Amino acid sequence: MKLWRIPEDNNDTPEARTAIEEASALLRAGGVVAFPTETVYGLGCDAVNTEAVERVFAAKGRPSDNPLIVHIAAERQLEPIVKPYSGTAAKLMAAFWPGPLTIVLPARQGAVSPRVTAGLDTVAVRMPAHETALRLIAAAGCPIAAPSANRSGRPSPTRAGHVQEDLEGRIDGLVDGGPAAVGLESTVVEAEEGYIRILRPGSITAEELAAAGGCEVIGHAEGATDEQSGQQAAPRSPGMKYTHYAPAGAMTLVAGAPEAVSGYIMEAAVKAAAKGRRTGVLVYEEHAAAYEADAVLVLGSLSRPADAARTLYDALRTFDQLGIEEIWAQAWPLEGIGAALMNRLTKAAGGRLVQV
Ligand code: AMP
Ligand code: MG
Repeated sequence: MKLWRIPEDNNDTPEARTAIEEASALLRAGGVVAFPTETVYGLGCDAVNTEAVERVFAAKGRPSDNPLIVHIAAERQLEPIVKPYSGTAAKLMAAFWPGPLTIVLPARQGAVSPRVTAGLDTVAVRMPAHETALRLIAAAGCPIAAPSANRSGRPSPTRAGHVQEDLEGRIDGLVDGGPAAVGLESTVVEAEEGYIRILRPGSITAEELAAAGGCEVIGHAEGATDEQSGQQAAPRSPGMKYTHYAPAGAMTLVAGAPEAVSGYIMEAAVKAAAKGRRTGVLVYEEHAAAYEADAVLVLGSLSRPADAARTLYDALRTFDQLGIEEIWAQAWPLEGIGAALMNRLTKAAGGRLVQV
């Protein structure tokens, strides 16, 4: 696997230009190359080349009925792959692209490999807000299909090291662009005349979508568990039905007043430790002092949920590295990016949410 480093704050050096040339040539030749975006690292390939797409599925161990997001670097790459779309979708593109918003659009038949869309008549498209990603996609000259660059079922990669952990030896190249700024996967929406449906919550919130689209936002109940949201989302966004983001240890999410939450968690953790289990907690900075465990990981301050979003997946991977067998996490408020954060925490916990 070829490895290039392109720091986001110093990406116009001769080394960076050579890296983009080499990585884009690999993509054009049917290679699979992981690259940074503002959300998480993606595992990219030429979306038109079915063999390359199949290699992405194989490297990840991804179920074949779970379609991939197509990444573009400019509006002109959109027209060849989609059919006429709603005015609502156009408004969202104008407001949020480049950015962490994926829009499910009517697919032009045969424009990308049928393996990318998993046979659906729609295609999910995004333009990432990341200079290196945009330059790589533009240099490749083809639409780039890219799921998150992790083994299926593992937490998404927010650093190049996470990609190496999961995919070393299984992919052709990796562009290291430093840690991801957002840290959670993109918001995925359907945008029709008169409504927007959230298929996967992300850092772009329902309120922001409603304001930009000028219409009602429906679908994903904020912070809903898979069991609650799966019913609606499964047929529309196949990926939502799979277990995701899970650490190896068994995780429980605990909601309630801070003292009640720490009381519940510490009682459970002490019992688990007495049985010889390795314990971990995932907590706010403000309440970290109330906890004792083999690993006490602080996600960030309650007043800055975006920090927690950025660090969540790294924390889940750290629990695995430390061999933590039982994990408890404090629930976060659902405002703003908190909704997406709680969606991922709920998935990581396999739906186990305790209200105290
Ligand atoms: P990932 O890129 O691994 O974070 O996953 C992409 C997400 O987008 C999954 O939840 C997919 O099911 C969803 N997705 C991709 N293409 C479509 C599509 N055409 N319609 C609905 N959802 C899609
Ligand atoms: Mg993924």
